[in-house]
Amino acid sequence: MDFQPDLSLEAFRENVRAFLRDKLPADLAGRPRIGTRSPREELSRWQRILNEQGWGAPYWPTAHGGTGWNVLERLAFDEECTAAGAPTQDVGAQKLLGPVLNEFATPEQKVEHLPHIFGGTRTWCQGFSEPGSGSDLASLRTSAVRDGDEYVVNGQKIWTSHGHRADWIFLLVRTNTEVKKQAGISFLLVDMKTPGITVRPIHTIDGCHHLNETFFDNVRVPVKNLVGAEGDGWKITKFLLNNEHAAAADLPMLRRYMRQLGSLARQRDAEGRALIERPHIAQQVARFEAELNAIAMLVQRVAALEQAEDHSPAAHALGSMLKVRGTELQQRISCFVVEALGDYGPVAYAAPEGDASAEPLPMQEVARGMANELFFRRASTIYGGTSEVQRGIIARALFQL
Ligand SMILES: Cc1cc2nc3c(=O)[nH]c(=O)nc-3n(C[C@H](O)[C@H](O)[C@H](O)COP(=O)(O)OP(=O)(O)OC[C@H]3O[C@@H](n4cnc5c(N)ncnc54)[C@H](O)[C@@H]3O)c2cc1C
Repeated sequence: MDFQPDLSLEAFRENVRAFLRDKLPADLAGRPRIGTRSPREELSRWQRILNEQGWGAPYWPTAHGGTGWNVLERLAFDEECTAAGAPTQDVGAQKLLGPVLNEFATPEQKVEHLPHIFGGTRTWCQGFSEPGSGSDLASLRTSAVRDGDEYVVNGQKIWTSHGHRADWIFLLVRTNTEVKKQAGISFLLVDMKTPGITVRPIHTIDGCHHLNETFFDNVRVPVKNLVGAEGDGWKITKFLLNNEHAAAADLPMLRRYMRQLGSLARQRDAEGRALIERPHIAQQVARFEAELNAIAMLVQRVAALEQAEDHSPAAHALGSMLKVRGTELQQRISCFVVEALGDYGPVAYAAPEGDASAEPLPMQEVARGMANELFFRRASTIYGGTSEVQRGIIARALFQL
């Protein structure tokens, strides 16, 4: 691995910054303040701007209409978009489902779905987890029984992020109970408007509605919506979950938190003293900075392995290390920002969108919505594979435990 500054990557980054300066409309910039998806109209507007630039699918190879960017370029793009406060793309469609469709879908399925991903006109949610089948996903029980040209789906999914706003869901179902549990799973694409689907909200501690329970009661799904062959669901899921270990730490989000903490530390308190002049604040900011740099170096290492198509257990374990370290740091920084606000703490609890006509709150630029972040990020050590499960992967791969 080479630690010298990568000049071509710096030039790439500058190009992305220039694009964001020129093309990101002021009324779209800085809107998504918390870890939720941008509203649909913002998503599709931003998607159109990206398409005009030829960047509509930033994570895909050129053969599939993507940019063909390498892992580090994709990360740099995400970092710059987060820094500029650009709307988040539909991550489910772009990073999870899109690569699956490119690899496994029929030509008809591609024609049906890919233009909508590029257009930002059809949003997706992920229907994998069930009550009792989260970490042990292969034990899932939602069934799909073939009846002529249709599957009849029955069961329940849980923690369906954005399911209440999504147009379609990509779903894992059990099509065979007679074989080894992994071999009996299939991957279906389902229109959320199909009769028999009920979505119920789960309200979370951050006060937002992102999560849902999704129920399937005799839902009839055309067989043409099966991706791959019957029983390919587990193979497709491994492919989907193996995408982008280098992104597991969510470095763009960490850098955003550090920028917020940096501006907060420079603000003056009621006695006219900057927070950073307090030794314990200065020490903690320096400690976070060092941890962030260590994570950034590990990201480079994992990206180099991904570039070299190293799919060894050791490479996988480094991705797990990034997930654990990155998400724990997200939790600690967001918590520290709220604590460091001291008497201004309540600003952190104000709604992130705020009321544009209201008198500005003190420190609102750095603090507003930070409590939502603090609460939402409690979940980051659960979603995408819990920290305990990641530690199990590390223990097995690196220490043969
Ligand atoms: C905010 C959020 C968004 C989510 N979005 C989605 C989504 O859009 N779609 C979707 O399908 N799912 C989603 N999930 C679900 C997520 O994937 C699961 O919560 C996660 O996989 C853990 O599964 P579980 O909740 O069933 O916990 P369990 O697997 O039941 O785990 C319970 C506890 O046991 C521990 N544990 C379990 N197995 C092991 C093991 N082998 N070794 C050591 N400890 C273990 C876990 O670490 C945890 O502490 C989301 C979750 C959250 C919190």
